[in-house]
Amino acid sequence: MSASVALSAAKPSSPAATPMMAQYWSLKEKAGDCMLFYRMGDFFELFFDDAKAAAATLDIALTSRGEHDGQPVPMCGVPVHSAESYLARLIRAGHRVAIAEQVETPAEAKARGGSKALVARDIVRFVTAGTLTEEALLEGRSANRLAALAEVGSEGLVAIAAADISTGRFEVVAVPREAVDAELARLAPSELLVGEGAETLPAWGGVRQLVRRPQGDFASGPGQRRLEALFGVQTLDGFGQFSRGELAAMGAVAAYLDHVGTGGTVFLQPPVRHLASGRMAIDAATRESLELVRTMAGARDGSLLGTIDRTVTAAGARLLADDLASPLTDRDAILDRLDLVDALARDALWRGDLRATLRALPDAGRALGRLVAGRGGPRDLAQLRDALAGARMLRERLGRRPDLPPLLARLLPGLDGHGALVDELTRALIETPPVDAAQGGYVAEGYDHALDALRETARDGRKAIAALEADYRDRTGIASLKIRHNGVLGYHVEVPAKHADALMAPESGFTHRQTLAGVVRFNSSDLHDAASRVTQAGVHAIAAEAAHLEALTAAAVARREAIAASCDVLARLDVAAALADHAMSHNWCRPDLVDGPCLDVTGGRHPVVEAALAKSGERFVPNDVALSQADRLWLVTGPNMGGKSTFLRQNALIVVLAQAGGFVPASAVKLGLVDRLFSRVGASDNLARGRSTFMVEMVETAAILAQATPNSFVILDEVGRGTSTYDGLALAWAVVEAVHEVNQCRCLFATHYHELTRLAESLGALSLHHVRAREWQGDLVLLHELADGPADRSYGLAVARLAGVSPKVVKRAEAVLAKLEAGREKTGGLAAGLDDLPLFAATLAAEPEAAKDALRETLAGIDPDALTPREALDALYRLKQVEAGA
Ligand code: ADP
Ligand code: MG
Repeated sequence: MSASVALSAAKPSSPAATPMMAQYWSLKEKAGDCMLFYRMGDFFELFFDDAKAAAATLDIALTSRGEHDGQPVPMCGVPVHSAESYLARLIRAGHRVAIAEQVETPAEAKARGGSKALVARDIVRFVTAGTLTEEALLEGRSANRLAALAEVGSEGLVAIAAADISTGRFEVVAVPREAVDAELARLAPSELLVGEGAETLPAWGGVRQLVRRPQGDFASGPGQRRLEALFGVQTLDGFGQFSRGELAAMGAVAAYLDHVGTGGTVFLQPPVRHLASGRMAIDAATRESLELVRTMAGARDGSLLGTIDRTVTAAGARLLADDLASPLTDRDAILDRLDLVDALARDALWRGDLRATLRALPDAGRALGRLVAGRGGPRDLAQLRDALAGARMLRERLGRRPDLPPLLARLLPGLDGHGALVDELTRALIETPPVDAAQGGYVAEGYDHALDALRETARDGRKAIAALEADYRDRTGIASLKIRHNGVLGYHVEVPAKHADALMAPESGFTHRQTLAGVVRFNSSDLHDAASRVTQAGVHAIAAEAAHLEALTAAAVARREAIAASCDVLARLDVAAALADHAMSHNWCRPDLVDGPCLDVTGGRHPVVEAALAKSGERFVPNDVALSQADRLWLVTGPNMGGKSTFLRQNALIVVLAQAGGFVPASAVKLGLVDRLFSRVGASDNLARGRSTFMVEMVETAAILAQATPNSFVILDEVGRGTSTYDGLALAWAVVEAVHEVNQCRCLFATHYHELTRLAESLGALSLHHVRAREWQGDLVLLHELADGPADRSYGLAVARLAGVSPKVVKRAEAVLAKLEAGREKTGGLAAGLDDLPLFAATLAAEPEAAKDALRETLAGIDPDALTPREALDALYRLKQVEAGA
């Protein structure tokens, strides 16, 4: 059907619908909540609300076509040949798109249904954030995951399956409900599937597309069968034992991939169970506040990852992100990684050589993903060839080294075994083949003699045509005669109009084809013969190449798991070399893993702050910390901007880096392995979050108190700050006591509540520290240096002056402060009486549970809506009585 067909008024179900509208609406219904790209000739057209939304997002013209219910139908369109870039923008803006293609030619339509027949169209594919494979639509250095959540009531766990179909990585994990957000934050899926009936949705806010799918997709039985079919196995047992929830989540991913690809193949490797047990537990709030792989604003730049990433391959960058997002707790596994980084750190030549080799390798993992998905081309095969050839070369070179670190020795064989495929691809393909196969020309000379012969014929034909041109010029005496080629006429003779008469003569041997303004075009039988030889040979050659492409693709796809494994090895080498390289150029050291809950850092630095300071030529002041069983809670006070937050975070980052298997920004580190890491930032300090936050802060703090073990590491930065002074101080006080007495974990606590320093008198494993500052000639100098003991004063006014508050205001504030301080002397001040508080543990023990329950019971019996004011007052008195124990 031509693009000029008018859309006329019709409702989806209206009998007056034109055939085309009926087709449009039935496709639109199939597309569900996706935008519909409706193929018309060289354009994808969008209509109605789709058109409005797309025109706004893409900033393209919104036009209209025909009418619907008496209103013009909004329409916009994008050219098919540049559709990818438009798709990318729509996906980024959170849309999903269904692509409806013409699935027969106009000629086929006519043959089927007569001259008026509408070309059949169908949705061939859905383009969604989590299911992309196109290079242009993906960000090379980040994983792109599609995840599904499933919960099987009786199991009490939520299963999360996550697939990156651009590389085939497929993992599944089952966690308690309260850990779902932490896992999602680690995986950071760009698209998340939940059941239609799912009542509670995850709180994690990073998902770009949340998609509800039919509940049936989440059934474990069919899910299992779907997976067995997908992997072509009788049973999944060979991959591991999966719970029903895990099968349901994985099955939902598989069902969705089936739906969006509408039956095409997708690349999934066998599922790997992510063992939360071998990993450091890091919840969503901690991840966010430490800015491990993304800043709070969502950028990679400025995060820990962005600052230290020196990987030279996209797959390496993706793996480094995974490593930092999920540090290990298994000592041997960490030591394995450290040994490899260490060996590479010591040998700069080797490291440089390895990195240069890796840098030249293409992203084979994603090329493989496209090939398996049926969207690959000659360029993808060449990328596999080059990457696997590089892997083989690396294997040989590395194998010759003495004293291989154990991890490397174990990894090396994984680079092997692709010799036959590489050789085949090398013989078959030219050096740099085109992305698109349509024009041919990518199969190398000498690979297929029949193909070579066809090309020879075509070449000869073209030579013959060139010879004909010379011959015709001679014979006709027209020097400006040319033989040209175009899509409509094919090869033809062209002369300026003024010379046309000679060729028009019947005996000239030329047949007239076309007269244009200045030129006239002819055909001749010799030319016709030569031209058909060229065209025939060309068509056959392209078909022959296509057959080779198919066979080579099949050969590569058959080895997909081994290829994916080699890609993983290359990525691991890249990460180790990158960490070593960064460590060496920044003077980082190898952490020493020790027993017991210890964190002993000499000369620690914050890599991101240090890098930011370095840009403006400023020096970062290194600081030490020494936490141990006996001195496990450091209370850090000192002026605003003094470096407290930086100090806390740098130590958390050192722990993350060390357990990810890398060197650390310090001159020496002794670390007892951390099982759970927590970081909390007081509400008012956490500007980027912009939520009403005191509540959030307390919920998150409660999670620490519930979960931290003696092997955990906690940093608390100005917790309790988000509320009035008294509440905040009281809460901070109680939290410090609880962490000290109950959790007994390593903890750094920064506070501006000077009063908290009194806790040192009652809590044995707590010690006081402060960031140093000095007043010099009326100005405050922040030294960013940690020292023992409490800060002697708060310097608040000096900071205000530093920040540019006008001298008049500061003067007035000084006067007010003097009054307040005088008042404190008299009354004992804010923290007066705190000394008399019983210890936290004592309160715990003495808690009058029974009385509390009686209180609850009474409370539960009151229905405020049913009370008169008088009754309400009575109820209040009753409550007071119960509370008093009467
Ligand atoms: P606080 O939490 O005490 O208010 P921050 O940790 O936020 O202070 O630090 C404030 C600023 O001081 C940082 O942005 C950084 O520029 C600088 N700073 C912090 N620590 C150091 C350090 N160790 N060396 C040099 N500059 C630092
Ligand atoms: Mg701070």
